[in-house]
Amino acid sequence: MPTTRAGRNFMKQSTRNILLQVVTGSMIIVLLLWQGLRERTVEADSGVRQTMGTFARVLVVAPDNASARAAIAAAVETFERAERLMSDHDPASQLSEVNRRAFDEPVVVDAEVFAVLAAAVRYSRLSEGAFDVTVGPVVQLWRQAKRDGALPTAEQIAAAGATVGYGNLMLDAESRTVRFAVEGMALDLGGIAKGYAIDRAVEAMRQAGATGGMVDVGGDLVCFGTPVGGRDRWRIGLQDPGDEGNLLLRLAIDGHAVATSGDYRRFTVLNGQKHSHIVNPVTADSAAGLSSVTIIAQSAMEADALATAVSVLGHEKGLALIELLDNVEAIIIRSDAPNEWRATSGAETYIQKK
Ligand code: AMP
Ligand code: MG
Repeated sequence: MPTTRAGRNFMKQSTRNILLQVVTGSMIIVLLLWQGLRERTVEADSGVRQTMGTFARVLVVAPDNASARAAIAAAVETFERAERLMSDHDPASQLSEVNRRAFDEPVVVDAEVFAVLAAAVRYSRLSEGAFDVTVGPVVQLWRQAKRDGALPTAEQIAAAGATVGYGNLMLDAESRTVRFAVEGMALDLGGIAKGYAIDRAVEAMRQAGATGGMVDVGGDLVCFGTPVGGRDRWRIGLQDPGDEGNLLLRLAIDGHAVATSGDYRRFTVLNGQKHSHIVNPVTADSAAGLSSVTIIAQSAMEADALATAVSVLGHEKGLALIELLDNVEAIIIRSDAPNEWRATSGAETYIQKK
């Protein structure tokens, strides 16, 4: 054993060398592992497909091709189920059956339909009827007007409006039944079902092994987990309602839902005037005033319902309602000021500075 000073120095140096080698070695191993993990991440894109009267697209990040494919299939299956249950365009859907029978007798519905109806009633209350799940006959009237190319008469508007009122919808949780108190009532889940389906799709994708993804149904979306393309965050663009090709601003989100409603994409021109597909349940007229309402929330169902509600409430009442809610933000554009947007105080967190 060397005991001289030179010997001790030699010992120290060789210990240091060994340590250095161990550290460098483990760094290389970590790097290789990380590289390996990265390589084991695959991405898949469902492409644009039709569902629930609009388009849908799913992006997925998963550890392997099989789980990526399973995640896309699970999301698509969720959309198809939501459509089968809740479409008001399909006479065979459970919702259509409720609309036909619920005045005559209580109608038993699927647990999912019941949950969405219960949530819809909560948003109807929260928005004091700006969102109203019983708005069906008024929506039908305006759809007919669009087909005819002529405005409905004042009598038709009054008759349709008379049936509206979520207070006349009776939900019984125990028997899971739905019943109408007024003849001619009809439910419409068009303002909330997309959001519900998106949330369920995200759940199904995670279960199938997705570590990240985006589910977009008609411009309402959720981005979760690992972003695609090796990016650090999910970034989405908000379309300028006045100029289809232009982005108004960019949002950075992580696990949030973003829903946009407004008259810029879905509307009809009757007598030279733009009519939104969103109606005011109180006046039975089509909603006017806001060309775009974007809600950022924790769930797509909440974002979807509130975007529809704020479109009816208008900018002042709408922004005031959203300010009151935790973890919900709004960005709105008025039809008469297409180049300006207004937002709730917390929206800044998501807006990307150019
Ligand atoms: P969204 O695109 O989410 O704003 O939903 C619009 C759809 O919601 C319409 O096509 C109708 O089916 C339905 N709807 C329209 N007005 C209302 C309203 N005031 N409350 C609830 N649902 C509505
Ligand atoms: Mg909506």
